[in-house]
Amino acid sequence: MARPNPKPGDPIADLVESLLVELGENPERQGLQSTPDRVARALRELTDGYGINPEEVVAGAIFDQDYDEMVVVKDIAFYSLCEHHMLPFFGRIHVGYLPKGKVIGLSKIPRLVEVFSRRLQIQEQLTREIAEAINTTLAPKGVGVVVEARHLCMEMRGVETPGGHMMTSCMLGTFRRDPRTRAEFLDLVRGS
Ligand SMILES: [Zn+2]
Repeated sequence: MARPNPKPGDPIADLVESLLVELGENPERQGLQSTPDRVARALRELTDGYGINPEEVVAGAIFDQDYDEMVVVKDIAFYSLCEHHMLPFFGRIHVGYLPKGKVIGLSKIPRLVEVFSRRLQIQEQLTREIAEAINTTLAPKGVGVVVEARHLCMEMRGVETPGGHMMTSCMLGTFRRDPRTRAEFLDLVRGS
């Protein structure tokens, strides 16, 4: 992942300084002096998935292969920011697909997850975007994506019990049409 260049004079830093004042803080005090710059760099980094095309991510990493069994990549850690509160939601993503003459280099699936996580997101959309990116770039027989996540916007505000996971899934192609394919995928995801 290309690291964002901290831009001198990033407008986010000025906005954060105003925010600190609005919150009743003194941005001049020692502990806060570098905070606007730090927050600006962190936010740039955590949202650097914008404008990256899934095709670019997988370019050169799709291989002809006769393998026709299900490929599953489990427990991909991800961190994202909810688009409603800009607070973290994070957890694990499981991806499966049934190849149709082509497979994708395994490191590219976590990379796709990162591209879509590093934007302001909602979990349902993140789930669907990952599934559709694999479907579009690889044209497999089917794709399944399961996301389990904790949402700090819910937990910290007491809307939800701490530690509770929200689960979402997106099934395309044979994963949607064929209950046995779907069951095989979900068994592989659940088994540890
Ligand atoms: Zn939220």
